[in-house]
Amino acid sequence: MTRYRTIFLAIAFALMVVVGALAPSSRAQQFAPIMTHALNGGVYWIEGGVGSNSGVVIGKDGVIVIDAKQTPDSGKAVMAEVAKLTSKPVTHIILTHSNLDHVDGLPGFPKGLTIIAQENCKQQMEHPRNNPQNVDVSGYIPTRTVAKKESMTIDGVRFTLLHWAPAHTSRHLIIYLPDQKIAFTGDITVTRLPYPLIHLDDEGSSAGWVESMKGIVALSADTYVPGHGGTQTKDELQQRVMNTAARREKIKALVAQGKSLPDIKKELGEANPPAGGNPNFASFTEVVYKELTKSKS
Ligand SMILES: [Zn+2]
Repeated sequence: MTRYRTIFLAIAFALMVVVGALAPSSRAQQFAPIMTHALNGGVYWIEGGVGSNSGVVIGKDGVIVIDAKQTPDSGKAVMAEVAKLTSKPVTHIILTHSNLDHVDGLPGFPKGLTIIAQENCKQQMEHPRNNPQNVDVSGYIPTRTVAKKESMTIDGVRFTLLHWAPAHTSRHLIIYLPDQKIAFTGDITVTRLPYPLIHLDDEGSSAGWVESMKGIVALSADTYVPGHGGTQTKDELQQRVMNTAARREKIKALVAQGKSLPDIKKELGEANPPAGGNPNFASFTEVVYKELTKSKS
């Protein structure tokens, strides 16, 4: 009996070691270290956790948070970072759009906050989402909406919230702080990809992306905080919009010549799937091709 017990204990111990060795790495992949970066004038951005970047703006008496990340734990991590910066309470959340990696962290924040979003963002959040991964955010529906452009002073801080056209999705707001010369651009700019990520099933648009980016670049801002990745300068974004507009024209010309999608990709030297891209999402070339061929039929 003792021998069997020893073997059993040895196996149990070995299993514990294996599980213990696996767990930290799988957790680390999901929940990246939280890092808070200071900008100027009481503005910060927070990377890490699960999901998108978040922004923090410290006002006279309270704190305005931009985007909630993807999980309630990540939302709580943002709250904990705010508590390290100031004893003032979080009073407002402004959402760049309604994709899950920006809104599903909302239940990690206290209830009853003022939540500001583009009107299409609110509309989407009001409808039950079918993805089983989604967190229930029904207690965090935006309380104030913006259609195209609105300037407001929240807690002594001047904000201009802007929406030009459908781009990454049809639900975007750009959060522009004119005094600090900072803009939070959400996923209209995702820095890990050379060309924009556009969700056609979320009513995104490549032409609208170019229009939106021209508006973003024209803002009197020095620092742009994207939805994912590090901050960008105006020059970097200018380059990005020029490259993308040129790429779009090239695809347009090839479609007009009657070329197939595989031929266009080959001609543009696009890997399949493109480097850095999520294979679940259509590449920029695929998006433009779909838009143009649909409009022709
Ligand atoms: Zn995102």
